[in-house]
Amino acid sequence: MAKRNDLVVLKFGGTSVQDSASITNVINIVRNTKGRKVVVLSAISKATTALENIAKYASESKTAEAESSLEEIINRHHVIINDLVNDSKLKSEAVEKVIAYHRHIAELIRGLSIINELSLRTLDTFRSFGELMSSTVIFHAMKNAGLDVELIDSRKIIKTNNDFSRAYPDFEISAANADSLLKPLLEKGKTILAQGFIASTEDGITTTMGRESSDFSAAIYGSLLDAGEIQIWTDVDGVLTADPNIIPYSLKLSEISFKEMEELSNFGAKVLHKNSVKPALKKDIPIKILNSKNTASNGTIVSSKLSYPKLVKSVTYKKNIIVLRVQPKETLGQFIFWEMMLNILARHKPQIDLLLSSSNSIIIVMAESAYTKIHYDELKNEFSEISDCEIVSKKILITLVGSDLSSIENFEQRIFISNPGVKADSVLFGYNKHSFSLLIEEKDFLKTMTNLHKEFFENTNSDTGLFEGTTKKEGKLIA
Ligand code: ASP
Ligand code: MG
Repeated sequence: MAKRNDLVVLKFGGTSVQDSASITNVINIVRNTKGRKVVVLSAISKATTALENIAKYASESKTAEAESSLEEIINRHHVIINDLVNDSKLKSEAVEKVIAYHRHIAELIRGLSIINELSLRTLDTFRSFGELMSSTVIFHAMKNAGLDVELIDSRKIIKTNNDFSRAYPDFEISAANADSLLKPLLEKGKTILAQGFIASTEDGITTTMGRESSDFSAAIYGSLLDAGEIQIWTDVDGVLTADPNIIPYSLKLSEISFKEMEELSNFGAKVLHKNSVKPALKKDIPIKILNSKNTASNGTIVSSKLSYPKLVKSVTYKKNIIVLRVQPKETLGQFIFWEMMLNILARHKPQIDLLLSSSNSIIIVMAESAYTKIHYDELKNEFSEISDCEIVSKKILITLVGSDLSSIENFEQRIFISNPGVKADSVLFGYNKHSFSLLIEEKDFLKTMTNLHKEFFENTNSDTGLFEGTTKKEGKLIA
């Protein structure tokens, strides 16, 4: 058997496969990577959102809108085939497959426009076509370029529960599938090409693991196959000290620990999906964040190593935060209340960012998501039955991430002193070893981010070797 370390999982995000030029880049990166390879692909940029909208239009009987939006997405795939697949046999194969997907989605649109209903399960089916189509087209482009690739349907490998829209994998069952279906191919020297984001239940129903979860898929494949390295190819140079859309002069980190990265993702950084760290951490597989549009940059390495303790690494944020201030009904005993509250939360499963409690009230902080929106009213109603419940929305959670934050000299004072205008009564704190969160008003957002970045990254001496300048590019970047 080949040794563990020569297996690399390479994941390419939506902007890395957005058009023919980008895909040519991807093909070169894969060709130049040594060892056994598993390539995990996202849908071409904006395809998943378009498919979600198509499903919504269809369920509202807006068939014309759905069809024209579908046409646009389908055409982008045909353009890529035209540009990158010139072998006539490969080309007709690729075209036929995209036509078949087109037909299938069109049928689903008609179905939905009759039943006028859209479940999360159906939505997942719609979403899955983005990755199914991108991987088909890129598979043919890679074959055309002479790579020895095999296209795998991730739904046959990754098995999840049926929590549609944010399904979670069963690693044991998935590992058995990887052993029987992937390992023999890898041993033959094949490069495996698979879709990110999509998976299926044990009885084969298509699921997705949450928006932006192709990173998670890459980590899952890395874990199932005991990879030596997981590479996340994206459109920024690596993990940055702040979202460059907010702080254009943010710096790149050469490295960050798993724990810090996990905290950063949990508190809003888009550079790596929040579920990706755990599987890598468990098997101690380093994750490299790399820029497919700037292969000269050495990226950021995420690993178990912590070379820079007692340092703030990044400041991140989450918008559209909902705050539930809950005061238990006096008639309920403390423990009965907690039990009822946990029951409500377990039923609706919101993603809770912070939970703070004092003797007479509890504050639950969570991000508004498509999922929370669906459960929002029920959540509120159920809480009203057991408490006086006040809901405030549209707050912003800003979080400083690092390690051993409490041992940084004057840490809390520096946060306050660098933000003179921000009122303490509008600020809520969440605190642990790796993160410090402030919940602020929308109007204070830019000012606070700028002040904190200045205080922790610009005013301090940066010759630690950890922070590097980034390549600035046009267009929208995400941290
Ligand atoms: N295509 C999916 C999305 O846009 C998954 C991903 O790209 O990570 O959310
Ligand atoms: Mg991403």
